[in-house]
Amino acid sequence: MSVVVHRAPVVLSAGREALADGAVAVADGLITAVGPADTVLSGLDPAATVVHEHRGVLTPGLVNAHTHLQYSDMAEVGTAQHSGFEAWMSAFMALYPLPRDWSASAAAGAALALRSGTTAVAEIVTDAAAGSAVHDAGLYGIAFWEVLGYTDRTWADGGEQRVRAQLAALPSVPATGLSPHAVYSLDTGVIRDLSRLARDLGVRQHIHAAESAWEDAYVRTGTGDLAERWRANGRGEFALLSDGGVGTGVIRYLDGLGALTPSTHLAHGIYVDADDRALLRARGVSVALCPRSNGVIGLEPPPVAAYLREGNAIAVGTDSLSSSPSLSPWHDVAALHDIARAQGYADGDLHERLFAAATAGGAHALGLDDTGALRPGARADLAVFPAASATPRDVLAELVETGPAEASLTVVGGRVRWAAAPAYEGTTAPV
Ligand SMILES: [Zn+2]
Repeated sequence: MSVVVHRAPVVLSAGREALADGAVAVADGLITAVGPADTVLSGLDPAATVVHEHRGVLTPGLVNAHTHLQYSDMAEVGTAQHSGFEAWMSAFMALYPLPRDWSASAAAGAALALRSGTTAVAEIVTDAAAGSAVHDAGLYGIAFWEVLGYTDRTWADGGEQRVRAQLAALPSVPATGLSPHAVYSLDTGVIRDLSRLARDLGVRQHIHAAESAWEDAYVRTGTGDLAERWRANGRGEFALLSDGGVGTGVIRYLDGLGALTPSTHLAHGIYVDADDRALLRARGVSVALCPRSNGVIGLEPPPVAAYLREGNAIAVGTDSLSSSPSLSPWHDVAALHDIARAQGYADGDLHERLFAAATAGGAHALGLDDTGALRPGARADLAVFPAASATPRDVLAELVETGPAEASLTVVGGRVRWAAAPAYEGTTAPV
């Protein structure tokens, strides 16, 4: 069995001591050893070992815990600045219905994700043509089939059978899941049914929640701009609208429908209070924070300092190019760093915790226990990034505060899926 060793001046992985001149040994797609380079190499047969000596910093591959790769072709929406969710939605809906090759758009997004050092994604698939992009690119993670627009009445007319068939049509590798879109685009009974369906099928759920301020009024009292728009558009039969809301916020409403379990993670989680965050902790639900998307749309920043102080499980998502300027999770990490400091988070562990959120935290959010960290037995999902700093501590600060747009190497399951040629081939040498 031949072993490939990736050696780098700095090796970082959440939860373990940083290594100067570290190495990761890989065989058959799995990590077999991690440690100081001398130690790792001394345990190997030189005749059966290939060593790649990298510049920069070696980390676990990044986990993008919320994205829609299929919208990569809609960057003109994501590079503009919008004044709020309604304005952004109008800009999005002006383009979305136009004929488009969703397969090519999603494939382009998957390629960008790999270039950014991402090895696993929580991908939301809205159009079937985009459904194989994660599989085809060799990415790890979950393709979530998005469900939206059903009232309890239209759902009763074969909705579940349709969704079962749509989900079954996605490639089963790496994995599939269900994404009930949001509390305002699905009727109350449909959200409850989808949670039951996810349990029946043994798949995970991923839901947009607490992304905009008007979601709260919509759920609590069935009022507000969105409620009025839906009524005007003939969608007044949603139970939240006909019943005048349920008297609670979005998080408690979802919990009452059985949607909050350890096999669900949420996207955004901006408009939540301390009770909501406590409920998310109690239910074992992670939140994928997407601060740059929130900024482009014109929303508030997420309460990252509160999530960190109170001990919530958080992950990092880029959302799509239709609401964000790039698919680099590092750029959202940098935004979260600045937001946390502005919100008064002064503890010295901020770099470590945000790095963990973008790697192990993302894996945890997706329920994947075999990626997101460099340890023997885990999948060989790793990335190498350029870094100007010398010490592990300074390199970590550099990554978190000004993370690079592009990796020099991305390895998924032991296979090289992206390599900036000069940085990789130029330093490859068999022992
Ligand atoms: Zn989204």
